[in-house]
Amino acid sequence: MRIDADFECGSIIVQELTDTGAILSIRPDTETDYFQWFYFRVTGAPDIARTFKFANAGEARYEKAWQYYQVVASYDEKNWFRVPTEYDGSTLTIKHTAVESTTSYAFFVPYLTAQREALLQECESSLLVTRHSIGRSYLGKQLDMVEIGDAVHPVRKIWVMARQHAGESMAEWATEGLIKRLLDPLDSASHALLSKAKVYVVPNINPDGSALGNLRANAAGVDPNRSWAEPNDKIPEIVAIQKAMKEIGVDLFLDMHGDEERPFIWIGHPDVNQSTKAKQIQHQLAQELAERNPEIRPAPKGYGDVVIQKTSRSDNLSFASNWVAATFNCPALITELPFAKPAHMSEDTMLQEGCLRFGRTCVEALNVVVD
Ligand SMILES: [Zn+2]
Repeated sequence: MRIDADFECGSIIVQELTDTGAILSIRPDTETDYFQWFYFRVTGAPDIARTFKFANAGEARYEKAWQYYQVVASYDEKNWFRVPTEYDGSTLTIKHTAVESTTSYAFFVPYLTAQREALLQECESSLLVTRHSIGRSYLGKQLDMVEIGDAVHPVRKIWVMARQHAGESMAEWATEGLIKRLLDPLDSASHALLSKAKVYVVPNINPDGSALGNLRANAAGVDPNRSWAEPNDKIPEIVAIQKAMKEIGVDLFLDMHGDEERPFIWIGHPDVNQSTKAKQIQHQLAQELAERNPEIRPAPKGYGDVVIQKTSRSDNLSFASNWVAATFNCPALITELPFAKPAHMSEDTMLQEGCLRFGRTCVEALNVVVD
């Protein structure tokens, strides 16, 4: 049996390997000491019961995540399914009898550069879309942004950004759902929204971290969503998007994430002073999303308190949603899709199809609240 992770987004450390399993440890993000993302491929004879033990799972960034967790696996990298795991408080164990000779296991369904590039090329063939590069990542990758909509009179400017946190691939799946729906000329919600708004989508603001197989950090070890107050040259991704936002303007912002611990979707609100109108629109948008997504549950209690505890009041502008809401006095929401199967749903509705569907519902919800 062989275990590989030497490919895009791949990450695992093999400590011990036998024919019936392995002892693994999860590798820390680049230049940091926290970890949780993994993605590796096992090659070997099928129909053998194998056991994979993650020896350092108990020290992962979000240790509680393992409580509800089931690993995602695939034989062809297209169709992903869950495999149950066991967690004893320190070790996470996968027991699986693969029916093919190659099996991929990941923290969540990966979203790779080739997929993004294919989607961006599809965008480029649409008359509705202009593809931009807003700058370069720490390692020099293009930071792609698509401007969707051809209305010429003054229109609302909606920004959607995903994957500040490198391993939160569900967020990028969601932007694909949103983008593809906006490209459909026969879709009435898209048509209506684009008659009054332009939508600026950054599907992956942290392409280095994603490709490196990080959970959160960029290639310099910086957490993008703690860097908005004063981004420096170690986080050029945030310098670039702030510049683009200031040049273009922002009337509404969605910051898409994944939540490691909570087995449901939740929507977070900014924690800064905002106009009553901005708050009203945020509230309405969150409600419209909840009506369309039964996986949504109320935001974790005290979410705002958690934010304040971790950072002082003066630097809570280091969070994207707070910075955008404060800088543009506009509505701004965080959307958090789960790594785990939604606990209150009988079906596992939040693999990649569910994330795409969530993105599609954003179009309808935005159309209701944007005037
Ligand atoms: Zn995140």
